[in-house]
Amino acid sequence: MVLDADIKAQLEQYLQLLEGDVVLKVSAGTDAVSNDMLALADEIAGMSSRISVERTQLPRTPSFSVNRVGEDTGVTFAGVPLGHEFTSLVLALLQVSGRAPKVDQSVIDQIKGISGEYHFESFISLTCHNCPDVVQALNLMSILNPGITHTMIDGAAFKDEAESREVMAVPTVFLNREFFGSGRMTIEEILAKIGSGPDVSELTNKDPYDVLIVGGGPAGASAAIYAARKGIRTGIVAERFGGQVMDTLGIENFISVKYTEGPKLVASLEEHVKQYGVDVMKLQRAKRLEKKDLIEVELESGAVLKSKTVIISTGARWRNVGVPGEIEFKNKGVAYCPHCDGPLFTGKDVAVIGGGNSGVEAAIDLAGIVKHVTVLEFMPELKADAVLQKRLYSLPNVTVLKNVQTKEITGTDKVDGITCVDRETGSEHHIELQGVFVQIGLVPNTDWLADTVERTRFGEIVVDSHGATSIPGVFAAGDCTNSPYKQIVISMGSGATAALGAFDYLIRN
Ligand SMILES: Cc1cc2nc3c(=O)[nH]c(=O)nc-3n(C[C@H](O)[C@H](O)[C@H](O)COP(=O)(O)OP(=O)(O)OC[C@H]3O[C@@H](n4cnc5c(N)ncnc54)[C@H](O)[C@@H]3O)c2cc1C
Repeated sequence: MVLDADIKAQLEQYLQLLEGDVVLKVSAGTDAVSNDMLALADEIAGMSSRISVERTQLPRTPSFSVNRVGEDTGVTFAGVPLGHEFTSLVLALLQVSGRAPKVDQSVIDQIKGISGEYHFESFISLTCHNCPDVVQALNLMSILNPGITHTMIDGAAFKDEAESREVMAVPTVFLNREFFGSGRMTIEEILAKIGSGPDVSELTNKDPYDVLIVGGGPAGASAAIYAARKGIRTGIVAERFGGQVMDTLGIENFISVKYTEGPKLVASLEEHVKQYGVDVMKLQRAKRLEKKDLIEVELESGAVLKSKTVIISTGARWRNVGVPGEIEFKNKGVAYCPHCDGPLFTGKDVAVIGGGNSGVEAAIDLAGIVKHVTVLEFMPELKADAVLQKRLYSLPNVTVLKNVQTKEITGTDKVDGITCVDRETGSEHHIELQGVFVQIGLVPNTDWLADTVERTRFGEIVVDSHGATSIPGVFAAGDCTNSPYKQIVISMGSGATAALGAFDYLIRN
């Protein structure tokens, strides 16, 4: 039995939702992964009379495709989609059977309208929480459009192929064998990348808003709900709805919810925001803000949105270490997400730059997978909590270097080492390794504001107790502000404050 009893019970319920017959075509050999795959296919088929299994020969073995009877959909799983990819398998079964996907009709129409041949391959790891979104988006595209196919490839099961195609981060997507993109991508982002995005002129012609929120993380979502509940015209424009929460695995401090996961919380946030008829504009990046009669926000697409008030909630992003090699080898050995990319470094030597909580947590996590971890801390002591340090120092395959400055990440086509300088003696060391995880905190996404609103020397927007900035009518909330603590509930609280502040401003002006 491949599936445990709990998962099997859940799956049985989902399989009752199948709307048509599904054929699993399995290409299997005699290896262990093939045996697991065959066992999984048989187990699933044994749970529903709508599912049958056929043996076939596919370009990769072991792999299997999920098809309608008499019609190949182009959805293939190379490797056994358990772990984080189990949901992708369940959704593929349901959607191939004819069950409607939970995406906007406009997105479905966009996918169906794509012409041409698009053969996607996505390299994933079963422990990557960023991968299922990409796999599910590409699967849906291949189910809806006969010109599109998608193969999910488990990098651990196809290690040689992953290495020969220089995959060093997951998810990594290839389109028609060419590199397409890496990291989490929404279906809208994928569509925009293949030239099927929303029409920019539609944005320019929008009526002015009462409240326009720039940024769609927890702060922006909360501000949008609070504003829309006042019955005023509310818009939210964001590069990526969900913000950092999309990159978060487990969340255990979202008060009243004992445990949730980032993408799940983001899905609820989006559903909640849309319930109030908020105009959500995704995949749009603000590049300029100017106060005239109304406040204007210019987007990188060229469109200009107008509003009586604006709430800035553009959050923060991973801080770069800023040394030679970091940008050149990003996704070629330089990584930022240990949960996602750790498994690609199985049996290899890696470094973690940063000895705070996130760096030490990453090192502990990685030590269970990789051969050896070197932690590089700039200060004379680690900054992580004592309990984490104790655990770190108990691990046999971890070396901690304190008071060192990273000078360069070296390599030719991928990372082969790191050079650091001992800050006390000035001596330089080069460590041979294959991966570098950068874990040195966050930087606010406020560069686009230039000197329009007052910011601290760290770039954080200065706000008062009503969330108001130095420009009347412009408010700010969340991680992009000078709030001392950066957390989901804090961002949501400040989003609500900024929305109420904006409403108060509107009724007084
Ligand atoms: C790995 C990780 C784990 C975490 N774990 C937890 C946890 O367990 N619990 C917890 O409480 N907090 C956690 N946090 C912190 C928490 O995620 C943040 O505090 C919170 O997301 C901040 O919300 P925000 O809305 O202010 O900003 P963000 O979440 O950063 O959202 C910013 C939004 O603005 C958009 N944006 C940025 N620039 C522009 C632009 N120019 N134009 C348009 N849109 C733009 C982004 O696309 C995004 O939609 C974690 C953070 C990380 C990175």
